[in-house]
Amino acid sequence: MIKENLTKIKNELPEDVELVAVSKTKPNEDILAAYKVGQRIFGENRVQELVDKQASLPKDIQWHMIGHLQRKKVKYIAPFVSLIHGVDSFKLLIEINKRAKNEGRTIDVLIQFHIAQEDSKFGFSFEEAKEMFESNEFVELQNINVKGVMGMATFTENKEKVRDEFRTLNNYFEVFRSHFFKFKDDFSIISMGMSGDYKIAIEEGSNMVRIGSTIFGARN
Ligand SMILES: *Cc1c(COP(=O)(O)O)cnc(C)c1O
Repeated sequence: MIKENLTKIKNELPEDVELVAVSKTKPNEDILAAYKVGQRIFGENRVQELVDKQASLPKDIQWHMIGHLQRKKVKYIAPFVSLIHGVDSFKLLIEINKRAKNEGRTIDVLIQFHIAQEDSKFGFSFEEAKEMFESNEFVELQNINVKGVMGMATFTENKEKVRDEFRTLNNYFEVFRSHFFKFKDDFSIISMGMSGDYKIAIEEGSNMVRIGSTIFGARN
């Protein structure tokens, strides 16, 4: 089914929307099934699982870290991670910069915003991010590349609420782009939308969706 599910989603997505296949908890054979039909971007939310999968699967896979990332674990993914979606504190960003420097590379990141009502969702507020972008310490980080923003909507049946939250994230993106990243063309990613809400997310400007269960089936 993975091949059918993936093909169906790919055919539905507008051309400028990137698909992150969220393979967390799923075995390597499932990832390979998606790989065989051309999928190269996979998202994981646990460091150990990400490290194990990266070691045993094809090297041209681009691994995205989509979950909450603890500072002490950055070093394990720094050698290979392609994009870190969940940068939810300045301290974490500084640690990523340090580990990237050790590896002699630049790591692409997204700044996560807290747009949902639930307490459990991590992320910056607008004010916190503004303060960070304005600081000298931020400007001095040479080994990270901020490529855009990421957010998760409230888990609810209320579609208007979800739409509102995505719209808020899109607004943040536009404000920050025009104030802090005006001359940086690759500040261009709005990562929002999962299996249950990606269509609304795309209508509200998402250009990167993170889809798991609709491709790989329900998780335990
Ligand atoms: C698990 C997860 C997803 C994918 O969720 P599905 O509902 O299975 O599509 C997307 N984003 C994040 C941050 C996740 O942890």
